[in-house]
Amino acid sequence: MAKVYFASARVKKWKYDDSMPGKLERLLKEFDLSKYLSPRDWVAVKTHFGSEGAHRIVRPVFLRKVVDAILSTGAKPFVTDTVRIKGLDYLEVANQNGLNHLSVGAPVILADGLYGNDNIMVAAGDILGEIAVASVIYDVPAMVVCSHVKGHIQAGYAGAIKNIAMGGVSARHRHCGWKCGRGGMHAVGEGQIVWDEEKCTLCLQCEEICPLDCIKFEDEKFTYSDENCWRCGRCTRVCPEGGISMAGDDTAFMSSLAEASKAVLSTFKEKKVIYINFLTEIQPECDCMPAAEVPVIQDIGIMISDDLVSIEQASIDMLLTSKPLPASAAEDEKINAGDDVLSKLHNKPYMLQIDESVRLGLGEKEYELIHLK
Ligand code: SF4
Ligand code: SF4
Repeated sequence: MAKVYFASARVKKWKYDDSMPGKLERLLKEFDLSKYLSPRDWVAVKTHFGSEGAHRIVRPVFLRKVVDAILSTGAKPFVTDTVRIKGLDYLEVANQNGLNHLSVGAPVILADGLYGNDNIMVAAGDILGEIAVASVIYDVPAMVVCSHVKGHIQAGYAGAIKNIAMGGVSARHRHCGWKCGRGGMHAVGEGQIVWDEEKCTLCLQCEEICPLDCIKFEDEKFTYSDENCWRCGRCTRVCPEGGISMAGDDTAFMSSLAEASKAVLSTFKEKKVIYINFLTEIQPECDCMPAAEVPVIQDIGIMISDDLVSIEQASIDMLLTSKPLPASAAEDEKINAGDDVLSKLHNKPYMLQIDESVRLGLGEKEYELIHLK
């Protein structure tokens, strides 16, 4: 049975050792990264850089502890993510959110190049076929996946599986386009963006959010560049009126997350990937949105495991026993103690990600939870 090491966010003593950074340091020592990393291994610390207005990412102080623990094994870490908006702009977002070489103690780089075109096609599964894995992640021998646990409009629950699946692949492939990248998960069929003139109030939020300037309103009529569009779905998510949509399929999406995770993990030898889930600042939406909402569940703590499914199941189990926070989206939606908060918020069958990951052999649901002393 896989072990999941856990440190609670609660502070019982006013000492550094009992702080979250102090507990993470102790958790990393107890887990012992040297069992997984070899001296001189280059190690990707995969996280999400956030967006200009979404500051609730895995904080730099935590990434610094992870980097220091990797350095103590003699391995060489770098912090990375794939291109979500234009590459140079995304590096600036990382910098604004506090992620830079000085703060985290290691280079902060893009895993798929400045243009997000630097990737390798890897076999994924029945739904995706092949998917464009970021070349840096493809080549590096070891990875520590640092995931901010939160909600997600399409995935319902977003943790390590989503971080690897959506974040380990590029938005598009140089030749076969968005269908071989992240867009192949977000959209089905031709994934065309459909505008509903009746619902649209011309607020222009969709135009503002598009990372590629695909959307234009001319004479109050919507147009977008089908050729350039990545099918990232941001425009559909920010529309307050439901005036813009892109065809998707919840079941296929959940399965494709597992397939893409499998593709990314297939580029590593066994026991070369470690997962750290941060159950902190659990906001209702993804870190790529233009703003971070207040958390819907109080900080719970940090988990480490070498089993992808176990850490996800343990994280979900803790979320299921946590109360919704007042003055949050959970209260707006009248979610009560005992309810599945993320399920009530997004109404998505998020357990399918886990079940499909088990079916694909990415880990096991049973786990032993080891509390930090
Ligand atoms: S899905 Fe929408 S926001 Fe994303 S690239 Fe296409 S038009 Fe732009
Ligand atoms: S975000 Fe929605 S309502 Fe606003 S301009 Fe776009 S389609 Fe219209």
